[in-house]
This record gives sequence, C-alpha cells and structure tokens, in this order.
Amino acid sequence: MDILSIIEHKRDRQELSKEEIDYFVNGYTAGNITDYQASALIMAIYLNGMTDRETAFLTRAMAFSGKTLDVSDISNCIVDKHSTGGVGDKITIIIMPIVASIGVKVAKMSGRGLGFTGGTADKLESIPGYRTDISIDEFKQNVRDIGISLITSSSELAPADKKIYALRDTIACVDNIPLIASSIMSKKIASGANKIVMDVTCGNGAFMKNIEDARRLSRTMIEIGRIINREVVCVITDMNQPVGYTIGNQLEIKEVVQALKGDMQKDVREIVYALITQILLLSHKADNEDHAKHLIQDAISSGRAFNKFKELVARQGGNVEYLDQLSKFEEANFVVPFKAMSSGTLVEFNTEEFGKVSSLLGAGRITKDDVIDYQAGIILNKKLQDHVDAGEVIGYIHTNKDEVINTAIERLQRAYRISLDEWVDVRTIYDVVK
Ligand code: URA
Repeated sequence: MDILSIIEHKRDRQELSKEEIDYFVNGYTAGNITDYQASALIMAIYLNGMTDRETAFLTRAMAFSGKTLDVSDISNCIVDKHSTGGVGDKITIIIMPIVASIGVKVAKMSGRGLGFTGGTADKLESIPGYRTDISIDEFKQNVRDIGISLITSSSELAPADKKIYALRDTIACVDNIPLIASSIMSKKIASGANKIVMDVTCGNGAFMKNIEDARRLSRTMIEIGRIINREVVCVITDMNQPVGYTIGNQLEIKEVVQALKGDMQKDVREIVYALITQILLLSHKADNEDHAKHLIQDAISSGRAFNKFKELVARQGGNVEYLDQLSKFEEANFVVPFKAMSSGTLVEFNTEEFGKVSSLLGAGRITKDDVIDYQAGIILNKKLQDHVDAGEVIGYIHTNKDEVINTAIERLQRAYRISLDEWVDVRTIYDVVK
C-alpha cells in the first residue's frame, strides 16, 4: 500500500478501506507521510466526502493513534460535553462545574482555538497558573477526587487528531461534516467518557451554517457513538451572534464567574439549561426537565457550582484569588469604545468577523505558532433585537496592539447590520437530536 494510491482513490471518489485509512493516519502521525500528501488527501475528502463507514474507520484510527483512557474504574457514568465551536463560546466552562457539583463525574478533553473560534483550553489557561497539559494519571486522579478534570488533546491522547486538526486549519478544510465528526468523536473515545452531550452550533459564527447541515453532523456523531458504544445527544444551538457579551480569554473567564454566581445573559442561560438538562437526563440524575431545572438552580444559588469551579482551578494549578476578585485580572493597555453608525434595531451580526477581529486584537492564533494575548478581546453592549442610536457606544475592544485599533473598529462597525424597518427572530435552541 502507498499514500499515492490512497490519494488517487479518494480523488476518484472511491470508498477507502479500513486498511487505507489506518495506513494514512498511522503514517501521518509517525511523520512518514508528508504534510503536502496529507493535505491532498484531506482536500480530496473535503471535496468528495466520506461514507459513514469511512467516517467510523477514520474516527477509530485517530482515537487509537495514541493512548486511550479507561475511566470505567472511576464510575460507570462519566460525562463529556463538547461544542463544535463558535465565537464567545464559554459554555463548557460554565456547565462542567455545575454538573460536577450535582454529582455527575466530568472527564473532559478540550481543544484550542481553531480558525475564528476560541478554545476552552486557552480560556482556562488565561487564569494565571492553570495547566490543561496535566498527565493522564493526574487527570484521572482529579476526576476521582473532586469529580471533574479538563485536559487538552496532547501528544499522548489522539495525537493524530491534533496533527490533522492543525493541518485542516491551514488548508481551509475545517467546515466538513465527516472531518469534524471524526475529529470530535476520536477525542471522545480517547478520553473515555461514555455519555456525551454535543453542543452543535449553527449559524454565521459556526462551522455549520444551516440547520440541515447541523442535523446531518448531529446524526453522523450519534451514529459513530452507536457503533462505538457511547451514548450521544446533540443540542443544536444558535451561533448567529456571539455567545453572551464577551469574546476573548480572560474577558470570557470573568463572564463565566458571573454566570456561575447566577448572573447570566439570556442566551447563555438558555444554552446552559438546555445542555445540562440533557446531561442530567442521560446520567439519570434528573427524572424530567423540571427536576433538572431545579437541580441546576440549586447548584448555582447554593454557591456549590462556583466552589466546584474554584476547586478545579486550584487542583490544576490556577490562582483562585483571581476568581474571588475579578479586578485582579489586569486589563489590556488599550480599552477603546466603538459606536453604532446608524439608529435602529440590531438585526444581524457577522459573527465570524467578530471571531476574526478578536484574533487580530491578540485573543486567537492567526498562525498556529502565534502566542495568545489573554487580555485581548471584545465586549458587546448590544445583542440582536436591541435598539441602538447612532453614535451610541455598542462595545469595547481590548488590545495591547496599538497598530490594529483603527482597523479592528472599522471592521467591527461593518460587522453589525442595523435596520429601521426590519425585525429579527432570535431562537437560541433549534433542536435536540438523539
Ligand atoms: N471541534 C473539534 O474538536 N474538531 C473539529 O474539527 C471542529 C470542532
């Protein structure tokens, strides 16, 4: 077997065999297949698609490209939650401590920022001292002792995904159903959780731009879950505006702390409640939606959810004083307001552009070796359906890069559509697919 004939097969729309997919994944991970050959194959997959069988083979090959975690000795019910990515998406960091404080064990492997989307691992690492690159033993011990741990995909777990994920980002091959489904599910298999709730984001700030594609991605992941014996539920959520009111690592952590103390934006609240409800039903902690709602409210109002977050942060090396006193997070050197260019109702966000501008300000990686500036990002004062007046401050940029301020503001002002005679319907939760 050789890589050239595998590329030819996919180029010519043939179904790849398990052996061919294993050959590619193992060879690329080991460094025996070059980036340009891997790029050619990934692009052929992007253009010509994959059958469910091929997607399942690719998932397995990536999952078993490194170590896999066996957490069955900790509990027979370990939950993981994953988002397919978005802008300002801090939902995982809010949900996981709430769930753990209700008594469901959480073992979560998170990614870093990809394309215009932020990554949970980067956001957590913006808390001084916090480490997501802990060893597998430490990860398991944390789940055992405090019921929660978050780790990043490493060279130990699903290394093939890490390599292919980074390559896809550089060759415009991210937004593809078989590639996203296999990337996410390979990490889920490797990290051992047996109950998985997916936040499948949908809209102009997500990889899935429409509901049909979001449903297709959901069904693909559920099917992979069925084949590999993992229960998967997908909640399709709106990403036609950034989630909550912050974009950027430390800014989002501050919003997380407020949310864990009960102060949540409407969209954040709806997504948090919808996802946790599915987690509690899946893990048999709640009998029905009302019961789930009661458990969530109690976890937050009693302070247990916030305390669990502090316990997690302290365990993984973070300084919890920053969480108790948010003013300890130093602001970026430049905090600059931007204003509405006209009056009317805010009817559209170019959400992807907010993610890209946030990267430009320093909050994300434009190339994979870029160093993130944790202080950088965007604060939103207005959301869809809000009325704005011309000249009113509608948000702030935070940056340490003086030279990008004007461009960032111009781009953001163009990324809003404000209308005097239109209205927009906002739905936060589109569907639950089981
Ligand atoms: N999240 C992942 O883990 N992988 C993708 O391909 C996209 C989003």
